[in-house]
Amino acid sequence: MDLNTALNKLSQTEKKMYAYDHAMNAIYLDSVTVAPRDTVEGRGIAMGILSEEHYKAFVNDETEEILNTLKENEAALSATDKAKLRILSRSLEKTKKIPMDEYVQYQILTNESESVWHTAKEINDYSLFVPYIDKIVEANIRFVKYRQPDCHPYDTLLSDYERGITRDTLDNFFNTIKKPVMELVDKIKSVHQPDSSFLNKHYPVESQRILSDYIMQVLGLDRAHCTIGETEHPFELSFNKYDVRINTHYNENDFSSSLFSVIHEGGHAIYESNIGDSLQYTCLAGGVSMGIHESQSRFFENIIGRSYEFISYVYPYILKLFPDQLNGVLAYDFYLAVNKAQPSLIRTEADELTYPLHVLIRYELERQLIDGSITSKELPFEWNRLYKEYLGIDVPDYRQGVLQDVHWAGGMIGYFPSYALGSAYGAQMLYVMQKEFDLSKDIAKGDLERIKGWLCKNIHCHGLMLDPYDLFKNACGEFDPKYYINYLTEKYTSLYNI
Ligand code: ZN
Repeated sequence: MDLNTALNKLSQTEKKMYAYDHAMNAIYLDSVTVAPRDTVEGRGIAMGILSEEHYKAFVNDETEEILNTLKENEAALSATDKAKLRILSRSLEKTKKIPMDEYVQYQILTNESESVWHTAKEINDYSLFVPYIDKIVEANIRFVKYRQPDCHPYDTLLSDYERGITRDTLDNFFNTIKKPVMELVDKIKSVHQPDSSFLNKHYPVESQRILSDYIMQVLGLDRAHCTIGETEHPFELSFNKYDVRINTHYNENDFSSSLFSVIHEGGHAIYESNIGDSLQYTCLAGGVSMGIHESQSRFFENIIGRSYEFISYVYPYILKLFPDQLNGVLAYDFYLAVNKAQPSLIRTEADELTYPLHVLIRYELERQLIDGSITSKELPFEWNRLYKEYLGIDVPDYRQGVLQDVHWAGGMIGYFPSYALGSAYGAQMLYVMQKEFDLSKDIAKGDLERIKGWLCKNIHCHGLMLDPYDLFKNACGEFDPKYYINYLTEKYTSLYNI
């Protein structure tokens, strides 16, 4: 095969993969937004067939030949084609070691498992979920052993979400942040807490929907390319940069829940919307890793969204929508309330300070599940024990404990640490950005263009052109969790006057 033929065929393969991904994403989006509850069977059949076709479109002799031709001509390739060769060679190496029938069975298993998890959580019955988590852990260990028999299985899983990250890196990271975070949480426990009771008054969904539209406008999301839908667990999904979907969940008695979900998912959406045009519909389109993706969502949610400047800018609009609920509440009171730090049960609703402790608990547990030092039956007890040890709280039931997150049910083991890494990446990005310009002045005017410009230039536009480690290093220098600790310490000592 000559190079031109290989490049043409490569482009056709990428489009085919994109089409299958688009279809499967559409089915997934439908399943968690508007599909009726008891529809898992038909969807499983469709997903099984599509994932088989997806596998066949990629794992075949022609793809091997295309990549071999590219490799032989590597010196003549453009930077984009070199990046494609790097990404696709890795991906082929990974996928082809898993037999197709096992790959398809796994897609069917996770589809079913998510549905069972949903019911188990609803009726607070962990035993329903046990056979599924067992099968998922077993399949993950089997797959990583096919792929990298000499590596520790959990290291391989971690690398799928954040390339290059190992247990050692994470042990260092969590050891650096654990003590200072726990000390801050402890100090805060003994001082006066701000009043946040007004956030739990009745906030009608209709008005919250209007607020979401406004927030998306402030974030500068183009509504011709980005819509908002409703779901149980907020998430963002993009088919491509021109078709991005945010999904939120409205809770009529917890006002800040959807407000910050929209900003968080908006951060993901901004990332996806700014990936280079030339990379669309190729294997280089999309966020480079879960850690970098979370750095963007959490940057918008916390560093921007929970800043006093941002709150002051959006508060007059919020007050107009909810004059009775917020009667007598000043922007500063609102700012204090949405930054209240206290140990709690639910990760997605945790404050910025206690958040990494929720992630640390999941990291320790999933690592032990994979290396066999705890069983799925012991998991809830260990979960509760760690919540007591790190956050000092008792977990009353499975729903607010081990069954709260969808990740393990969806087969995502090794994903959780990305959330804490992302928060730390974001704090270092803030440090670097601040040396170039004053963010707070822009945020106070509701002008996010300079910030988005920096993120786009340094992070977003590159898609998967660089590995996450190199992308981050080019933008911010060597990763160092001290910026995260400094950021948290500065913010919370000032908020609580400690
Ligand atoms: Zn996120």
